[in-house]
Amino acid sequence: MLSLAELSGRHVVLPHSRLPIVAEPDVLVVGGGSAGLAAATAAARGGAEVMLVERFGYLGGLASGGLIILLLTMDDGAGHQTVAGLCQEMVDRMERRGAVHYPPRSEWDDPDARLVEHYSRWGLVWGRGPHRVRYSVAFEPHEFIFAADEMLNEAGVRPLYQTWACEPVVEGGAIRSVVIQNKAGRQAIAPRVVIDTSGDGDLFAAAGEPFELERVHPWLWFLMSNVGDLDEALQGTKGLFFHTLGAGRVLVPWGGEGRTQRKIDATDPVEVAEALAECRRMVKEEADRLKESVPAFRDAHISMIADQLGITESRRLQGEYVMSRDDLDRPFADTVARTGHWTKYGCVYNIPYRSLQPKGVTNLLTAGRCISVDHRVHHATKEIPACMATGEAAGTAAAMAVQAGRGVKEIDVAGLQRRLREQGAMLE
Ligand SMILES: Cc1cc2nc3c(=O)[nH]c(=O)nc-3n(C[C@H](O)[C@H](O)[C@H](O)COP(=O)(O)OP(=O)(O)OC[C@H]3O[C@@H](n4cnc5c(N)ncnc54)[C@H](O)[C@@H]3O)c2cc1C
Repeated sequence: MLSLAELSGRHVVLPHSRLPIVAEPDVLVVGGGSAGLAAATAAARGGAEVMLVERFGYLGGLASGGLIILLLTMDDGAGHQTVAGLCQEMVDRMERRGAVHYPPRSEWDDPDARLVEHYSRWGLVWGRGPHRVRYSVAFEPHEFIFAADEMLNEAGVRPLYQTWACEPVVEGGAIRSVVIQNKAGRQAIAPRVVIDTSGDGDLFAAAGEPFELERVHPWLWFLMSNVGDLDEALQGTKGLFFHTLGAGRVLVPWGGEGRTQRKIDATDPVEVAEALAECRRMVKEEADRLKESVPAFRDAHISMIADQLGITESRRLQGEYVMSRDDLDRPFADTVARTGHWTKYGCVYNIPYRSLQPKGVTNLLTAGRCISVDHRVHHATKEIPACMATGEAAGTAAAMAVQAGRGVKEIDVAGLQRRLREQGAMLE
C-alpha cells in the first residue's frame, strides 16, 4: 500500500504566501473534544479571551462523534471520587435533562452481585474481579454536545467549526501564529498561548516536539434501536452490546483486536480512509448477524454509527515529564489532575503539570489523550474524565500565564492548584 507522500511522487512548490491574521485571542484551543471543551471553558472562565478551532461541526470528539458514551471512570475503584470539576458539571448538566445513567453515591464500591451485574450491562464495570460498583456514567451523545455548547457559550469562547489547524509558526521558541484552513481558505490566528487538544497531538508534532506514535486496531461503535427484551438477549452475549439511554436502544462497541484486520496509524489519512470503509462494512455485517441470530434484534435497526473512527491512541507527547507505571499512586508536588483506572480497583494516577508541557515551545500546553505518558499509563489518562481533568488544568494554567505575562512553565503552580481546587477539581 502506498502512503500519500509516495503516491504524489513529485513535489509542488508554493509561492511565498502572506496569510491574513484573522484573530489574536489570548488562548487558542486546537480541537473541541472532551479535553478541548474543558480547556477552553476553564481558560475563558479564568478571564482569557479564548478561541477554539474544531475540524468537525460539533464538540465532544470521541465522546460524542465517536459514540464513546461512557465516562469511565470518575472514582478510584475504592468508593472515592477522583474526577470532579468540569466533568462533574457536564454530568450535572446532562442529568438535569434525564440524559445519564449511573450509580448513586450510596452504591459506589458495593460488591453486591445484582448491582454489579446491572451496571455491567450498562458497560460501567470492567476489568478483572472481584467486582464492585464504580462511579462511571452512561450518557446520551447529543446531550453532551448541547451541554458543551452551553458551557462554551456561557464562558464566552469563540468556536470556529469546520476548520483545521494545520501549521504552527514557531519563532524564538514560541508559537507566534497557527495557520488554519477552512472554506475561507488559509488564514492565521495569532494567540498568546496554544493548547493542543487535537487528540493526535497535531500541533506539538508540527512544532517539532518529540512524541511516540502508537499503531492501534480501529473501532467503530454504533447504536441499534427497536431491540426487544434486552436483558434476555444479554444473557448469552456478554460484552457484545450494552444498555444505553433510550428505550429499546443498545450500544454496540464494534471493532478492535480480533475483529479489525490490522493496526493503523491514525495520523495516516490513507490508512484512516481504508479503516473507515472496512469498519462500516463490518458494522453492517454485525447488525445483520444480530438480527438473524438474536431473537430480541429481529425488528431492530441501526440508528446511529459513529462518524469518527474509534482511535484509542496515536501520538503521545514526550514532554517535560513522561509518566510511567511506576507513578501509580505517586504524589507529585505539581499534581494538577488525578484519575483512577477503569479496569483496576483502588489505584490512582496523579498527573503532574509537567506532563502537559512540551520540552521546547514556551507557550504550548497539551491535554487529553495525547499528554506525556507511556503506553500503559495512557490506558488510564486517555479516558474521558481524565481528558476533561487535564483539559481543565491546561485551560486554567493558560489563563494564568496570559494574566501574568509569562510562559506556561513559569506560572505559580501552587496558585494553579489553588484555583483548580476552588473550581471543584480533586487534587488529593
Ligand atoms: C474504542 C474506544 C473506546 C473507549 N472507551 C472509553 C470509555 O468507555 N470511557 C471513557 O471515558 N473513555 C473511553 N475511551 C477513550 C476516550 O473516548 C478518548 O480517549 C477521549 O474521548 C479523547 O478525548 P480528547 O479530547 O483527548 O480527544 P478527541 O475526543 O479525539 O478530540 C479531539 C478533537 O480535536 C479535533 N481535531 C483533531 N485534529 C484537529 C485539527 N488539526 N484541527 C482542528 N481540530 C482537530 C477532532 O475533530 C476532535 O473533536 C475510548 C476510546 C476508544 C477509541
